[in-house]
Amino acid sequence: MTTGPLPVAIRRLSDPRTPGAIEIEWSDGHCSSYSPRLLRDACPCARCRETRAAPPAPTAMLTVLRPEELAPLGIAGMRPVGQYAYGIEFSDGHSSGIYTLDYLRELG
Ligand SMILES: [Zn+2]
Repeated sequence: MTTGPLPVAIRRLSDPRTPGAIEIEWSDGHCSSYSPRLLRDACPCARCRETRAAPPAPTAMLTVLRPEELAPLGIAGMRPVGQYAYGIEFSDGHSSGIYTLDYLRELG
C-alpha cells in the first residue's frame, strides 16, 4: 500500500538529449523524468541487486559488451502490476524488475 502521489500520465519524452526517456506526471503536480539507463541501473529485481552488490571486476580486465549492450537502451513497455507498481520491459530484453510507485517517485 502507498499513500503517496499516483501517476496521472506516463509519456515518452521527445528530447534528443535523453533518447528514449519517459516522464511521469504525478497527482500532486510533480513531473519526474527517467532515462532508460537510470531505470535499468536501478532495476530492483533479485538478479540486478546481486550484480550491483558484487565487487567490481579488476580494472585490468576488459569489459566485453554483449551485442544488446551496444544498441541504445530503450524502454519497450511498462505494465501496471497491481495498483502500486509497474513492470518495465527494456529493449535489451530484461523485464523482471517491478518498480513500486514509491520507488519510481524516489528515482525521479
Ligand atoms: Zn533486473
